[in-house]
Amino acid sequence: MRIICTFAAKIKESLKKRHRFFPTHRLMEAFLNMIYCISKQMEVAGSHQLSLSYESKCSRLHGHNWVITVFLASTQLNADGMVVDFKRIKEAVHGYLDHGNFNDLLPFNPTAENIAEWVVRQFPECYKAIVKESDGNVAQAYDDHFPIEPEYLL
Ligand SMILES: [Zn+2]
Repeated sequence: MRIICTFAAKIKESLKKRHRFFPTHRLMEAFLNMIYCISKQMEVAGSHQLSLSYESKCSRLHGHNWVITVFLASTQLNADGMVVDFKRIKEAVHGYLDHGNFNDLLPFNPTAENIAEWVVRQFPECYKAIVKESDGNVAQAYDDHFPIEPEYLL
């Protein structure tokens, strides 16, 4: 076992000089487990009114400029060398919600928390979404069953 570890350490060391040791780089693929993380932030203007169990002015139709940040990760890149194209993320979230009434677009009470969960569910590679409704009002949804350990994620 120790011999294997020493061998792996030597290979890893040589990887740092991969341009000089290109054939070794091929060998190293067996030892490297890459994790790719990306995030995409976008501003989405829209309106909503919340259905609440208590009196609140949030029950009246009003608008926000939500700032939505989407976090995605994968251990493999697609054929284009990406986790997910940033443009695809923008189309799925901004393209669908921007300048819309969230009550019409989403099949649930559009609180910041529910919007964040909806964003996470848009992509299998998405593990977290942060929805900032206004300065100081931020919600986050996180996929507790995401297959990559949290310590490796953004
Ligand atoms: Zn609101």
